[in-house]
Amino acid sequence: MGDEAGVARPDSSQGEDFVAGVDTDPDCIFCRIVTGDIPADVVEQSEQSLAFRDLDPQAPTHVLVIPRRHRATLGQLAEDDPAAAVDLLRLARRVAVAESVQDGYRLVANNGAAAQQSVFHAHLHVLGGRAFTWPPG
Ligand code: AMP
Repeated sequence: MGDEAGVARPDSSQGEDFVAGVDTDPDCIFCRIVTGDIPADVVEQSEQSLAFRDLDPQAPTHVLVIPRRHRATLGQLAEDDPAAAVDLLRLARRVAVAESVQDGYRLVANNGAAAQQSVFHAHLHVLGGRAFTWPPG
């Protein structure tokens, strides 16, 4: 399987080094999307990452890209599994192309409560389809 949109892979088909109970958290809403317990509008996926539409979109394109492996923040993912962090970026680019926003899109990673992170499973927001301002709020 691998690249089909719309299908979240079951936990049993994670990669060989995936450790159930370490790389999944049953109390984490994004882990439950990865396992298929909670539905999501999946738009792209890879071996290590999953992309689905945000429930509360802040732009015409607002897709979340998450690692299948649970880590609380993007910084922690980068530390523990740099390849998974790179995979996240590559899938975000594929999302931007699929959504036709590749000429200008914003990647946001709220890292930690002080930066307004609300779901403690690493993720990138892919935002596009409208004008952006700088600095962000
Ligand atoms: P953050 O505040 O950076 O942690 O972003 C978390 C994002 O997850 C928010 O934009 C929420 O709207 C989004 N979100 C929370 N639950 C779900 C869900 N079940 N499906 C899709 N998006 C969700």
